[in-house]
Amino acid sequence: MSSTVVPVDSVVPDTRGRYGPYGGRYVPETLMAPLEELERVYADASADPAFHAQLDTLLHDFAGRPTPLQFAARLTEHLGGARIYIKREDLLHTGAHKINNCLGQGLLAVRMGKKRVIAETGAGQHGVATATVAALLGLSCTVYMGTEDMERQRLNVNRMRLLGSEVIGVDSGSRTLKDAINEAMRDWVTNVRTSHYLLGSVLGAHPYPQIVRDFHKIIGEEAREQILAREKRLPDFLFACVGGGSNAIGLFNAFLGDATVKMVGVEAGGRGKSLGEHAARLATARGFSGARPGVLQGTYTYVLQTADGQIATTHSVSAGLDYPAIGPEHAWLADLGRAEYTAVTNEEAIDAAKTLARIEGIIPALESAHAVAELIRRAPKMRKSEIVILNLSGRGDKDMETLSRYV
Ligand SMILES: *Cc1c(COP(=O)(O)O)cnc(C)c1O
Repeated sequence: MSSTVVPVDSVVPDTRGRYGPYGGRYVPETLMAPLEELERVYADASADPAFHAQLDTLLHDFAGRPTPLQFAARLTEHLGGARIYIKREDLLHTGAHKINNCLGQGLLAVRMGKKRVIAETGAGQHGVATATVAALLGLSCTVYMGTEDMERQRLNVNRMRLLGSEVIGVDSGSRTLKDAINEAMRDWVTNVRTSHYLLGSVLGAHPYPQIVRDFHKIIGEEAREQILAREKRLPDFLFACVGGGSNAIGLFNAFLGDATVKMVGVEAGGRGKSLGEHAARLATARGFSGARPGVLQGTYTYVLQTADGQIATTHSVSAGLDYPAIGPEHAWLADLGRAEYTAVTNEEAIDAAKTLARIEGIIPALESAHAVAELIRRAPKMRKSEIVILNLSGRGDKDMETLSRYV
């Protein structure tokens, strides 16, 4: 636990969008031109102070940044180890970190002259954040969602429709996220001149993993400044849950070059370690099986798959972590040993949500509760002088139905 780690300069993918062997661009020929256009426009926007000023204003006035870094006094005392700070992304508009990326990509769509955005959504959280930004910027918005998910997430479907978005049910395959992604891609191929595909995590073909990371790196930049102001030194540990990996990399990025800062990404351990029972792609040291490198939805990364290469089904109590692939930059940070990846079970996450609710007065999203669970496991073994930052990626309102079953 006291071993030092190898610092990594903030990871810039190479010109082909590679993080080591991972990442890249595995798409049909028809999508090469729009991805190149996105890359070009993004480079241009990144160098334009007016773009940053506009984004900063929206993040501040509309989304509610900066988010607080809260010292969790009672949780620190309860666990009896490290000093715990919570980065409160749950306090943002729409209830999670996702709005950071949606605002950024929404402005890119406007800059490209595209009047329409397309998104896919599983539980509906990314769909709601996208619909929100589309309304704010006057864009039309189509969200694809599996009909199975629509059934389970009625409230989010209604939210998107109230915000003026069109929600299209996808009835093929397992009628969940993977199938919705396929339909959204089909739409994009057909309407690529007028529409921007607003991807929701650090996944997909280059340049998406880099763009989405960059729109979330403000989480770590704020946290770094806040902890230095408060403690006059850097933290020893960062904890974040990892679905695609956007909230985690958003926190980690600002600390990658700091050798003393250790990083822990927490995946969904679901209800068992065999394939189909979990969504842990990098936590192989904990005995979760079935992940190896492969291509899924445009990028080369760790993918949960069967022996003959079929994409595996996954399971998690938390929809946001329930995905068979992980962002390519995380695969690379795992190979380098720069970040550590682990997983907790459904049950541990639910218990952690209860603990945080009762001890700190915060009901976390079930995704975030995975990071809380790993922290609860480790903090008691840490020294009282050590400092931890936990990224609380979202609030638990959306999960009340699930949580109510366990109260
Ligand atoms: C969507 C979501 C996640 C998972 O996505 P990442 O890209 O891994 O951050 C985590 N937490 C919350 C609250 C979410 O809504």
